[in-house]
Amino acid sequence: MADKFDVIVIGGGPGGYVAAIRAAQLGLKTACIDKWLNKEGKGVYGGTCLNVGCIPSKALLDSTHKYEEAKDHFDVHGITAKDIKIDVSAMLARKDKIVSNLTMGVAGLFKANGVTALEGFGKLLAGKKVEFTNHAGKTEILDADNIIIATGSVPVEIPPAPLTEGLIVDSSGALEFEKAPKRLGVIGAGVIGLELGTVWNRLGSEVVVLEAQDKFLSLVDQQVAKEAAKQLKKQGMKVMLSARVTGTEVKGKEVTVNYSDSEGEKSVTFDKLIVAVGRRPYTENLLSGDCGVNLDERGFIFVNDQCVTDAPGIYAIGDVVRGPMLAHKASEEGVMVAERIADHKAQVNYDVIPSVIYTHPEIAFVGKNEDELKAAGEKYNVGMFPFAAVGRAMAANDTAGFVKIIADAETDRILGASVIGPSAGDLVQQVVIAMEFGSSAEDLGMMVFSHPTLSEAVHEAALAVNGHAIHKANRKRK
Ligand code: FAD
Ligand code: AMP
Repeated sequence: MADKFDVIVIGGGPGGYVAAIRAAQLGLKTACIDKWLNKEGKGVYGGTCLNVGCIPSKALLDSTHKYEEAKDHFDVHGITAKDIKIDVSAMLARKDKIVSNLTMGVAGLFKANGVTALEGFGKLLAGKKVEFTNHAGKTEILDADNIIIATGSVPVEIPPAPLTEGLIVDSSGALEFEKAPKRLGVIGAGVIGLELGTVWNRLGSEVVVLEAQDKFLSLVDQQVAKEAAKQLKKQGMKVMLSARVTGTEVKGKEVTVNYSDSEGEKSVTFDKLIVAVGRRPYTENLLSGDCGVNLDERGFIFVNDQCVTDAPGIYAIGDVVRGPMLAHKASEEGVMVAERIADHKAQVNYDVIPSVIYTHPEIAFVGKNEDELKAAGEKYNVGMFPFAAVGRAMAANDTAGFVKIIADAETDRILGASVIGPSAGDLVQQVVIAMEFGSSAEDLGMMVFSHPTLSEAVHEAALAVNGHAIHKANRKRK
């Protein structure tokens, strides 16, 4: 193994493993180092996303959605389902099986593409060298022409709520509760807090989300945020805004959370508490002092638009660099860097990266939202279409929410879309494709959409931008 590699990737999450596979596909001699050990102590690839992030959280969201449907919503179809029960340990085992299938899949893809998998810790040294220490503690120095850092992120911990075994947990711990806690607190109403709160709320927990900001989902179109707040409230989730957690007291099997809101100091007691206040870039023991790679003021590895660091031949991608902490953003950066190393032209379009929140209704968005355009003083037209007017949504008894498409008032070019409703993540992807091709709202409106599908909401919203929606009354344009 002492030979030189064309590419060494440090970190095997969706950024790193995708970069390694693409580099190998392009004929580059590639190794990927990852230190992750699963519950059985086995080295696995897939990083946060596959092991404790996107995939296990969605497995639990899907299981609990089915449970809730069967328990509360089958009657409208004329189905009587008595004594619906959920076996939480079976649900967790299913989640673990999906995770292990996928992580084994990555190992298989490495083999198929000829990527050398190195299980252990990687440290970047000066002169494009990597110190690799395997899980047995054996260290060697590896050389590469190019090094890609993809070490990802870890949950932020806050002093008022230090993690306490089995009681105050981070997002990983919240995927492992053996039963639904009676009273569940969540600090942070971000994507992760809302998704994990939703999982346990569906299984009967009384969920209280404490959020320091005064605005709910401040980065999301506020019309969508308002609808989301309404729907989550209906589901029994209590989201408290302007509630900053200032301390916690653990007593036996309970945790009391102190927080301050506009009325002063308050407290509330829970059986479990999830800390979901964001994630931070992970660079612990990664960089030797003389390696030439710099961090920015927030601790992210400093890179340009092509993910090039300050050190020649060293790149960084994914959660450890600026931009949204999303698996698909990490993967696209991985592909871009691998292709640029192989002298291909490649660039990530950072203006068109979709985001999805997997609550029910689902929330998804891309590009600019109305609040951002208004604040920037831009002139735009909005087209909206409610799922309540979509035949397929009615057939599925899933009519909450709407599609909102925004286009430039002068050119009609689509600037962004926000969706709240069934399959929002898949529907917004249609607008992503349209935006990548520079589509106008009229172009999208002229395309043929199958009937009856949820996609018809996208079609009608595009038509509504110019006042041409068929299945709703259009707003009069001046
Ligand atoms: P990571 O996935 O964090 O991988 C980094 C890897 O590097 C890890 O395997 C780590 O072991 C390894 N590593 C770190 N340092 C070293 C070192 N020095 N040597 C060797 N190995 C090292 N994103 C979405 O897009 N959609 C979702 O639905 C979604 N849901 C999420 C749900 C939860 C609960 C969480 C926590 C996250 C979720 N995310 C989601 C975010 C997503 O998981 C991350 O954006 C994504 O994993 C980032 O990929 P990455 O490759 O940059 O880093
Ligand atoms: P995200 O970064 O999207 O995962 O969201 C994390 C959320 O946690 C943000 O909306 C923060 O405002 C919120 N948050 C951070 N610290 C606290 C705190 N001490 N109390 C309550 N909410 C917090």
